[in-house]
Formats: sequence, C-alpha cells, structure tokens
Amino acid sequence: ELSSSFCLRIFKIIVIGDSGVGKTCLTHRLWSGRFPEKSEATIGVDFREKVLEVEGEWIKIQMWDTAGQERYRKSMVQHYYRGAHAIFYVYDVTDERSFQSLPVWIEECRRHSRGHDVPSVLVGNKCDLHGASRVSGDVARKFAELHGMPFFQTSAKNPQVSDNPEDILAMVAQRLK
Ligand code: GDP
Ligand code: MG
Repeated sequence: ELSSSFCLRIFKIIVIGDSGVGKTCLTHRLWSGRFPEKSEATIGVDFREKVLEVEGEWIKIQMWDTAGQERYRKSMVQHYYRGAHAIFYVYDVTDERSFQSLPVWIEECRRHSRGHDVPSVLVGNKCDLHGASRVSGDVARKFAELHGMPFFQTSAKNPQVSDNPEDILAMVAQRLK
C-alpha cells in the first residue's frame, strides 16, 4: 500500500555511462513503460522513485540519472555517487567509444565507493539498431565477467528485441535485498 511507503527501505541505483548512450531513455522506459518523446527526454530529473515487490517485500527504488551533466561531473560527482546501492553501467552497442569509456567510469565509481563492493550490471543499449559497427556481445560479456558483473543487451526503444529493461531492474533489486 503506497500510503505506508514512507517506511519502506530505500535503495539508490545510479546510471552511468557516456552522454548519448541512452541512460535517460532507459530510466524513462523503466518508470513510464514508454520510450520518451523528444521533449520529455530533455527534462532534467535528479532521480525517480518506484515501489517494487521483491520476494514478498516492498522496497523503494530511487534511480538517479545524470540529466546531461556528464560534462560537469567533477562538480556533481560526490552528490551523485553518495550512498549508491547499485550501478547500471550503460554503453551504446553501436558506439565503440562508449564501450571503451567503461574502464574510466568503473575506476571513477571505485574511487567514490570507498572500497564498498557495489552490485553492478553492464548494459549494452540500442540493440534495436542494426548499424555496420557494433560492439561484439562476446567481447562485452568477457569484459563484464572480468569485472564480476552480469551482462545484458537491451533497447530502451524496443525492448522486445532484447533483454527487457524491467527484468534487468528486477534482477538488480533482488541482489539488493
Ligand atoms: P543519455 O545522454 O545517456 O541520457 O542518452 P539519451 O537517453 O538522451 O539518448 C540519446 C539518444 O539516443 C536519443 O536521441 C535517444 O532517442 C536515443 N536512444 C536512446 N535509447 C535508444 C535505443 O534503445 N534505441 C535507439 N534506436 N535509440 C535510442
Ligand atoms: Mg541523459
């Protein structure tokens, strides 16, 4: 019952990755069940909250999106990482550079989590696109294994073609408990 949600345990999930990989669209998909209209995607939100049932317990998930502040991350980074319970590392499967940026993001998260082992997942987004250049799923899976994270390939635009974003969130929520 939502009226008693004030006493639910709250878990903070942060979404990390290069600008343009689809972090905002993925967050929007998870919260509204839709791919955002252009105008909606530009609205800057600190975080969105959702109440989820995980193995019989209701918990509150707070999902933090960077709202296009990647460029200013030096100044907002502390606030963003503080108290994170889980991390979504996102890259764009059609953009090799966004995959190559991952070690930098992982290193930055490590620096801010002060030795805590924060549950993380690797998410390749935009699987609906069939461009010529593509990050190999095998290479990405090996990278995820190396860093001890589950690996998913998804599409915020068309979840049917790939792993469903909702299943990824449910799996992460289960690990939080
Ligand atoms: P962010 O900078 O990481 O938050 O990326 P956005 O969510 O703003 O998305 C960047 C661009 O990629 C936008 O033009 C989106 O419409 C597009 N986009 C995001 N997710 C997908 C997807 O799954 N498939 C396709 N085809 N485009 C996507
Ligand atoms: Mg964004």
